[in-house]
Order: sequence, then C-alpha cells, then structure tokens
Amino acid sequence: MEEPRRDVEKILLSVVAPVYNEEENLEPLHARLTGVLEGLGCQYEVLFVDDGSTDSSLAVMRELAAGDPRVGFISFTRNFGHESATSAGLDFASGDAVVIMDADLQDPPEVIVDMVEAWRNGSDVVYGRRRQRAKEPALKRASSFLYYRLMRRIAEVDLPVDTGDFRLMDRSIVEFFKRLREKNRFVRAQVAWLTSNTAEVLYDRDPRHAGKTKYNFYKRLKLSIDSIVSFSTFPLRLMSVIGLIIFVLSLIGALVVFIQKLAFGIAIPGYTFLVISLFFLGGTQMLFLGIVGEYMARVYSEVKDRPLYLVASVGGIEERKPRGA
Ligand code: UDP
Ligand code: MG
Repeated sequence: MEEPRRDVEKILLSVVAPVYNEEENLEPLHARLTGVLEGLGCQYEVLFVDDGSTDSSLAVMRELAAGDPRVGFISFTRNFGHESATSAGLDFASGDAVVIMDADLQDPPEVIVDMVEAWRNGSDVVYGRRRQRAKEPALKRASSFLYYRLMRRIAEVDLPVDTGDFRLMDRSIVEFFKRLREKNRFVRAQVAWLTSNTAEVLYDRDPRHAGKTKYNFYKRLKLSIDSIVSFSTFPLRLMSVIGLIIFVLSLIGALVVFIQKLAFGIAIPGYTFLVISLFFLGGTQMLFLGIVGEYMARVYSEVKDRPLYLVASVGGIEERKPRGA
C-alpha cells in the first residue's frame, strides 16, 4: 500500500537531536548523518536543539548551519532538560516524518534507513529497540528491567521495552504530540499513548562518542517518578487499599485483645506492640502524604502553566513560533 505521502523521493525528513554540552560530538554526528541522509535520496533537515549548553556546542551548531543549509538550530535561554528539548525539536520540525535521536552518537544514524523503510510500509511510529544492554552497569540494567515491567503493569500506556527516545514519527503523530502540553513530560510514554500503529527496528546501541552522560541516578529517578505519576493513578489507589487493610487489621486486633481480656483475663501486652504500631502507622501516613504530595506538586506545576522552554535564538530555519513557547 503505497501512500504518495510516504514516497521517499518526495518527502522532507527531519532529524531532531537534543544537545547539552556535546561540542565534540556534533561534527562527527553531522558527518555521519549527511552520509546516511544523502543516501536516502529525499529532502531533509537536521535540527539541533541546544538545551542551554555551557560549552561551545552552540558555536559549533552555528558553524554547521552556516556551512550546510539543511542544518538548523534552536537555542534555549538555559537548561530546560532533555524532554523539553525533544519537545521543542518536534515543535519546530517541519518534516513529513521526524526522527528523534541523541546527539552523542549512541543512536547510530544508519538505523534511520530501516526506520524510514518501516514508515513507508505504513507504521506511524517506528521505535529503535536496543538489541542488548550488556555494556551497561548491572545496577542500571536491573533498574531499567524493573522499571519497564512496573510501568507495563500499572500505567495506562504500553511502554515498549528496551527503547529510548530514538524513533521516527509520522507527521500526523507529531501534530497529535504537539497537543500534549503537560509540564512533567515523558516523551516516550506520551508517544506510546498516541498510537498503536507502531513498528520496531532492532539496533545495537553504541557507546558515547565523546563526553560523559548528562543523566545521573537522581535525574533518572525523577524521570521514572514523573512517568509513573503522569501515567498512572495506581499509587493513589494503592494508598486507599493499604489504608483499608490497616484499618480492618486494627479492628480485628482490638477485638482480639478485648475478648482476651474479658473472657480469659489476659492482660493487654506491654508497650512494644504500642511503639511498633505507632511507628508503623506514622510511617505509612507520611509515605501516603508524600504520594499525595507528588500528585499535588504536578497539579501545581500544570496550574502555573509556565512555558516548556524559552528560545533565545534560532538559526538555519525559517523563524516560526512554536506552540507553548
Ligand atoms: N540532553 C539534553 N538536556 C539535558 C540532558 C541531556 O538535551 O539536560 C541530551 C544529551 O545532549 C544527549 C541526549 O539528551 O543528546 C541523551 O543524553 P545522555 O547521552 O547524557 O543520556 P544517556 O544516553 O546516558 O541516557
Ligand atoms: Mg547518551
């Protein structure tokens, strides 16, 4: 089923890459992308989103844009985070299909060829799925494994396993995506929420070309909490269920003690039980308040309705004002 819209010769393909301090990676990335994209034989644009880099990334982007009319960039006023940078790229991209990839060459540009092929065959979203994670530390692998299984269980979206942000999206999906303006973003889950007309392409994730990862344990934890709270109300429900169980248990306990005293004259046991139950209840209450707080904090940030990002400068692309900025 050949849709004219998906005829590679006639389309514009956008490649979006969020960039935070990747000065040494941009040139090699551009070179490899050029090789691959020229081979595809379509029109294309490469869009770098400078997420408030403090190194010379922006200068490198300017240079690349000056030397290659197909390169454009957007530069933020400060670091707004990976998810916001990706969203800005999708706001500004004008391609019939848009590829999102990291700027550190962990996502091999050659995979784009397979993605375009799957898109031509009718899929609206084509995920890059990592073949193996063997090169990553055991702790990270274990936590990713747990996280994905947990999300699949409790979230309202079916998050594809072992995929990152590396993917191709059809224009129609990009337009839908632009309508999701929530502040606590998790692009991966948001896209999964949009459509089930997806395909996946297997690839080997390379090590970083240069520099080090911009994610630490804390950032990753924040992202996972964000994604769970944004896509699931299960924690809230869990609270009521556990609260109910504790309530019923305490009633039974009270009854048992009461009957023991009345029927058998057994004295009520000492303070150990008291202290333990005190701590137990105090602990659960605080935990649950914390969970309510997580949801409240997000309601608060949605209500404030601040822009997702602020653009300081753009180059190499026609100046358009994206939604939400
Ligand atoms: N990135 C970004 N803003 C940030 C952190 C990261 O735009 O605040 C970009 C970064 O430059 C890279 C991509 O997001 O292109 C993925 O980041 P990284 O490689 O550090 O993550 P990892 O691959 O280690 O998960
Ligand atoms: Mg990386």
